[in-house]
Amino acid sequence: MSRPLRPSYVALALACLLAIPGLPGLAGSAATAAAPTPHPVSVGVSVIPGTAALNRRVPVAGTVVDATTHGPVAGVRVALEIRSAHGWARPPGAAVVTDDHGRFTLNAPTFYYGRHVFRVAAAAHVGVDATIAAGASAAGAVTVPMPYRPAGRASAGRTDSTQFDPCEPIPVRINYAGAPRNAHALVAAALTRARAATGLTFTYAGRYSGVPFSRQRNGGLPPSGIGFAWSTSRTVSGLAGPTIGLGGGGWAINDRRTSSGVVIDRSFHFRQGWTGPNSIGGLLLHELGHALGLEHVKDRSQQMYPLDIGAPNGNYNRGDLAALRRVGLDAGCL
Ligand SMILES: [Zn+2]
Repeated sequence: MSRPLRPSYVALALACLLAIPGLPGLAGSAATAAAPTPHPVSVGVSVIPGTAALNRRVPVAGTVVDATTHGPVAGVRVALEIRSAHGWARPPGAAVVTDDHGRFTLNAPTFYYGRHVFRVAAAAHVGVDATIAAGASAAGAVTVPMPYRPAGRASAGRTDSTQFDPCEPIPVRINYAGAPRNAHALVAAALTRARAATGLTFTYAGRYSGVPFSRQRNGGLPPSGIGFAWSTSRTVSGLAGPTIGLGGGGWAINDRRTSSGVVIDRSFHFRQGWTGPNSIGGLLLHELGHALGLEHVKDRSQQMYPLDIGAPNGNYNRGDLAALRRVGLDAGCL
């Protein structure tokens, strides 16, 4: 069977090689028939305060102007972009279209901690009078200070090799069977802390019937994003012995994680709240850390310390935060 296939493969490769020298000629003839050179664009944005509290709404208002005619550009798509380790990253949901006067209002990236350099990028646009090239504003910056003092050292944080794409929303599903009454609020509060530390966008995608790390089809994981469930060692053998929760990745395509799960032992009597050893909040933060790609650490002050889970301050600490940043928006889009 390999013999007849081989010539067609070779022929395809040859065809590609032949097509490449022909490309400039093709592009040239197409250009003569198309519209004139696109006009460069100018994107102006308002000056914003250099520091803003977490989730404080700070408008970034501006105008898109045709730099050749000096007229406003209506109906062009503009998006907020954040400087990351791999170029400009576009968080989900941060795009609007300019009004009749070329104006737009976006929000500064105050949804996570740290100093964020951002800009507004305008897409290429075919208008009534002219074609406009893609362009971007000058860069601005905003610092979102931490409202608490994280413990430990940044070097304590560890990650594995996979992560969710920070530029796509991460759907979250909850299995409420056997879950406490406040399960939704608990998961939401853990996600709020993780978003503040990462810049990741979580979207609630409803209930589901899976139990992560069980013998169910697909390992009880949701089709995408993170699934949360409460169960016992009868369904999830990994919950036997001293283990009171499991969290981690299920599926990944190359480095891109597609689904993760968190399962909590509902037969264990957790301390209520977020602080101290074996608190339900502390366990959720720990397992959510695993679900996002974090690994255990030796520093007892970190949420990712594997014993008596639950940091005294009920939140992620310096090592956790450093690791969370590496799987967050500052790492760039995948
Ligand atoms: Zn763990």
